[in-house]
Amino acid sequence: MTDSLQTADAPVFERIAPERDLMSKFDGLIAERQALLDSGVRDPFAIVMEQVLSPTEAVIQGKKTILLGTYNYMGMTFDPDVIAAGKDALDTFGSGTNGSRMLNGTFRDHMEVEQALREFYGTSGAIVFSTGYMANLGMISTLAGRGEYIILDADSHASIYDGCSMGAAEIVRFRHNSVEDLDKRLGRLPPEPGKLVVLEGVYSMMGDIAPLKEMVAVAKKHGAMVLVDEAHSMGFFGANGRGVYEDQGLEGEVDFVVGTFSKSVGTVGGFCVSNHPKFEAIRLACRPYIFTASLPPSVVATAATSIRKLRHAHNKRQHLWENARRVHDGLTQLGFTLGTDTPQSAIIAVILPTQEQAVGMWQALLEHGLYVNMARPPATPAGMYLLRCSLCAEHTGEQVERIVDMFAQAGRQMSVIP
Ligand code: PMP
Repeated sequence: MTDSLQTADAPVFERIAPERDLMSKFDGLIAERQALLDSGVRDPFAIVMEQVLSPTEAVIQGKKTILLGTYNYMGMTFDPDVIAAGKDALDTFGSGTNGSRMLNGTFRDHMEVEQALREFYGTSGAIVFSTGYMANLGMISTLAGRGEYIILDADSHASIYDGCSMGAAEIVRFRHNSVEDLDKRLGRLPPEPGKLVVLEGVYSMMGDIAPLKEMVAVAKKHGAMVLVDEAHSMGFFGANGRGVYEDQGLEGEVDFVVGTFSKSVGTVGGFCVSNHPKFEAIRLACRPYIFTASLPPSVVATAATSIRKLRHAHNKRQHLWENARRVHDGLTQLGFTLGTDTPQSAIIAVILPTQEQAVGMWQALLEHGLYVNMARPPATPAGMYLLRCSLCAEHTGEQVERIVDMFAQAGRQMSVIP
């Protein structure tokens, strides 16, 4: 392995004893990856999109491939208005801001996108971060401090866990989607300190949704505040596309909603919206908001345009749900084991028991012309390998048929289905 890493500086590394070489801790990972590549498969984590033709098609290794493993749920990345807004901002404001939102990094379109978010969510407050990861990192570490509690679902996204690690609050985990366990764990905590319950609308590994109604009721019963990450539901859950919390009638009950621009919105960035009257104070205290550069003007301009269009994207919403149902039904009928019995979101997870089967199937699909996401531990529970499919509102009926056909062929080839 080290051969390819030889540089003019190599002798310096060679003088460090292996037990003091800080890179030695990665030997296991390096060996595991090498063993996978030695088995003759492509590296599922080193895909390059050589050309992107549309929200649903790209060229990968010279081959036109249907994309079924992006989070481009609403297919906004090639929307002509979105692209025009980005180009205009690039021409007018330049390529970057060179600074933090707190200093020189707030431009017209940062204000615009926060206004678009307030209108989309119907909230009094909206704060934009540089990514969704940083929105969770910032909000969670800043909201709950020393002597307070964060209560989170065991299957929470890495950014939620990292927000917990960054802050000083006590951390309590409850069993995934278990209302009973949440109730029990909250009941064991002292009543006085502040508490933040952190939930997700859609859990992105299995594509299952949270019983938010029951969970929020339990949190309120124990005097806790609630933050819901709606990264995987924005644009297509609820009458206004606000998320699972809207779909379950919880507006006015959830204290903070976190989201991202990297999925339905179709660019990059993160945000939190809230009706809390003191919400603006987050900007004064939140390190991942303060100590990093703000998003480029072109990015916030595309986000603002996309969010405004998503408000009215009723046809797209409907089509996305049709696509999700058709793929879920098709794969169920073929005999695949899926993450959910019924189509609950735009994510459909195909569960495979071994890494060999998962990688083999992933590669077979790619050779047929279909890209899906592969997920493995630690992103998934131990011993669980997933081929994660995420539907797009722009997948055509014909593409959906081809997707199911390609799964049938690859599944038989790999003996995953009869
Ligand atoms: N929350 C959840 C639930 C996510 O799945 C992700 C990203 N996959 C994020 C937050 C982070 O979003 P971003 O890509 O904008 O950093």
